[in-house]
Amino acid sequence: MYDYIDVRKLFFEIQQLFITVFRLLYVFISGGEKCVVCGRVVFTIPVCTSCQKLHFDVSKLLEKERCECCGKELICMKEKCMKCREEPVLKSTDTVLPLFSYRLWNRELMFRWKMQEERSFSPLFARLLYEVLRKNGETAIVPVPPRKGKIRKKGWDQIEELCTFLEKRYGLKVYRVLERNTAGQQKKLSREQRLESIKSAYSLKPGTCGLPSSVCLIDDVCTTGSTLESCAEILKATGIQKVNAVTLFTVD
Ligand SMILES: [Zn+2]
Ligand SMILES: [Zn+2]
Repeated sequence: MYDYIDVRKLFFEIQQLFITVFRLLYVFISGGEKCVVCGRVVFTIPVCTSCQKLHFDVSKLLEKERCECCGKELICMKEKCMKCREEPVLKSTDTVLPLFSYRLWNRELMFRWKMQEERSFSPLFARLLYEVLRKNGETAIVPVPPRKGKIRKKGWDQIEELCTFLEKRYGLKVYRVLERNTAGQQKKLSREQRLESIKSAYSLKPGTCGLPSSVCLIDDVCTTGSTLESCAEILKATGIQKVNAVTLFTVD
C-alpha cells in the first residue's frame, strides 16, 4: 500500500506533535494564556479560534486595498502610497504583500513572536503564509537570510522556522540561496544609512544554480523595503524573471 513515505516529513510531524503536547501541558498547568487579539484565555495557540477566523483569514487579508508597489494598506483610495509616489524603493521586486500592519494587536503579535520568541505562533504563521502562497500560485520560496551569528545567539531564526514548515509540512520548494554579509543591526541606523548599508548586505551563495523563473521572497518584517529590494536585485541578476515578496508584518 505504501508507495512512498517521506521520512523527513514524518519525523518533522512527530517532533511537532511532541512540542505541541509539552506546550499544552505547560500552558494548562500555568492556567492558560491570553489571546493576543481579544484577551480571552486560550490553551492551544495564543490566538483564539474566533480571532483566527476574523484576522487570519486569507481571503480577507487579500481583499484589502493595498499600495500596488509596497503592498501597504491604503488609507485613501489611490494606487500607490505616499512613500512609493515620492521616493520608490522597490524596482526589482515585482509585488510585495505584507500580511499584517503594525497597529493595535499586531504589534503585540509581532513582539511576542520576534522579541519574546514565542515559537508557538510559528505554525499559525506558516499555515497563513502557505495559504497566501498557494492562492498566488507561488511554489518556490527564497528566504531572506538572518544576520550572521543570530542563530548561534538565539538558537533559532523565525524565517528559517517558517521555511521548515513550508517545506516539510506543505511541500513547497525552499531555495536557501542568499547569504548575509554584514553582522551589523540596522535598527539603530537612520533611513538613509539603512538604505545604503542594505545594498551591500546580501549576496548569492557561491555555486548557486538551477533556480526557477519565478520565486517568492519571504521575510518577517518589511520596513523600508530595501532588504527585499536588494535581495530581489540579486535574484533578478541570476536571470529570474519574477520576484514577488510576502512578509508577515509591515512597519511604517
Ligand atoms: Zn481572541
Ligand atoms: Zn507603497
